[in-house]
Amino acid sequence: MEFIVDLTMGKLVKWLRIAGYDTIFYNSVKLDKIMDIASKEGRIILTRNSGFIKKERKVLEERGIPHLLLASDSVEEQLKKTANYFKLDLKESSFTLCIDCNKPLIHILKEDVAGKVPEYVYQKYNEFVHCENCKKIFWRGTHRERMEEGLSVL
Ligand SMILES: [Zn+2]
Repeated sequence: MEFIVDLTMGKLVKWLRIAGYDTIFYNSVKLDKIMDIASKEGRIILTRNSGFIKKERKVLEERGIPHLLLASDSVEEQLKKTANYFKLDLKESSFTLCIDCNKPLIHILKEDVAGKVPEYVYQKYNEFVHCENCKKIFWRGTHRERMEEGLSVL
């Protein structure tokens, strides 16, 4: 399941990526364009703009574009509602996408990260991945710690 999310919900975008769901922002005010991207890339529209849904309800339905209106300001509520509505498993494929780039994370050998990650991390973890786009290295702790940062839904 892939998403296109209202720019005002930046935190939700990161959380969906942490959970492994391909998610992009939209910052356009052109509703036609957003619907075109959603339709072309098979993305679900998540928005806080009730006017959008109201105005385009018919078009969204005709084009078969799934969408969800999120009213809450709280990222926890937004994530909870999205997960419940689309039956997402937020743990299943976590640790598969770069939080910043939305690109798949690639496994790298432990010896290749020597000197590139803090020493305690190198000692503690054996599994490392990196993003080919931004070159950032991640290990289990990076995603898991963020997950456990206080979102009880995860
Ligand atoms: Zn990246």
